[in-house]
Amino acid sequence: MWADLAPVGRDQVTGGYRRYAWTGTDALLREWFRGEASRRGLDVTSDRAGNLWAWTADPDTAGPGLVLGSHLDSVPDGGAFDGPLGLVSAFAALDRLDRTALRRPVGIACFADEEGARFGVACAGSRLLTGVLDPDRARALTDDDGTTMAEAMAAAGTDPSALGRDDETLRRIGAFVELHVEQGRGLVERSAPVGVAEAIWPHGRWRLDLRGRADHAGTTRLADRDDPMLALAAAVLGAREAAERHGTVATIGKVRVRPNGVNAIPSQVTAWLDARGPLEQAVRSVVADVGEAAGIAPVEESWTPPTDFDAGLRDRLAAALGGAPALPTGAGHDAGILAAAGIPTAMLFVRNPTGVSHSPAEHAETADCLAGVEALARVVEELAC
Ligand SMILES: [Zn+2]
Repeated sequence: MWADLAPVGRDQVTGGYRRYAWTGTDALLREWFRGEASRRGLDVTSDRAGNLWAWTADPDTAGPGLVLGSHLDSVPDGGAFDGPLGLVSAFAALDRLDRTALRRPVGIACFADEEGARFGVACAGSRLLTGVLDPDRARALTDDDGTTMAEAMAAAGTDPSALGRDDETLRRIGAFVELHVEQGRGLVERSAPVGVAEAIWPHGRWRLDLRGRADHAGTTRLADRDDPMLALAAAVLGAREAAERHGTVATIGKVRVRPNGVNAIPSQVTAWLDARGPLEQAVRSVVADVGEAAGIAPVEESWTPPTDFDAGLRDRLAAALGGAPALPTGAGHDAGILAAAGIPTAMLFVRNPTGVSHSPAEHAETADCLAGVEALARVVEELAC
């Protein structure tokens, strides 16, 4: 499976993956998912948001089922494991089981547009499925070329007019377990190959619209300038200081400059702030401080409150896995969106030796990946056999 996935969407120069929602690369990844599902005799359906579901049995008659899964899209120049590890492991776990022993359907879900790299809203597929992302807002989201999500979906053969909370699909999910590469070094510190998720930090994305006046870089006296790049600098430094002060993390990792010329004072700088932390109030304080530093009010583009996974399910899985450690995480996941929608949900993490993710340096050793498969197989035995 890894050999088939490896070349899809890989940038030759950086070695990172550029797997964006509703592109040709995305279509190849979906085709891979359908192929692996049909090879195993699983029925594949697409929901209203374009998420794919592969089932061992009909969840409408024999369900609701236990669903495993993750996503196949990536951030710009992402690593190989974030997302795909959950899907490869789900298929591999199913291969290890005697399917005649299943007493409820098992599904594998491939969520659309998890990273939000193209249209700016992370977990768009699961947010649409659960109704927390408004379909009109989703359809109107644009990528950097001005293409709307509706246009991109239609071009990929998925009907954007069908978007909206999908109760028919939600009814089929008895429980959801997402296996994911760890995005930190918690398991390295605990010397464990596999852990279970405790909670997802509250997190969000804000847009900073910084306006100035375009002018000549040589003839405009400093005193006469209205340069929004200075506000950006204040925002970047302010974000770091505020995050340290409030015990959170904060990042300005995306910037758009107009007109973006070496010899032109910018007329406008748009920057995006990502802020997360264990406490909601601390994250809110950071955003307020950044706005104050930049002299504007940040525009909230998305917000996810703190997500606690089902404690009973978490403890049951940790015990079934021989006392796997529990870890909090600063990363958002589709599992968090489903948990917030009231679905019993758990996550397994697989050790990442560098702790680095959203980068080509993201890694997991083969032995740890196999431990993850083993763990997922045991989860299925625990919950579905
Ligand atoms: Zn992921």
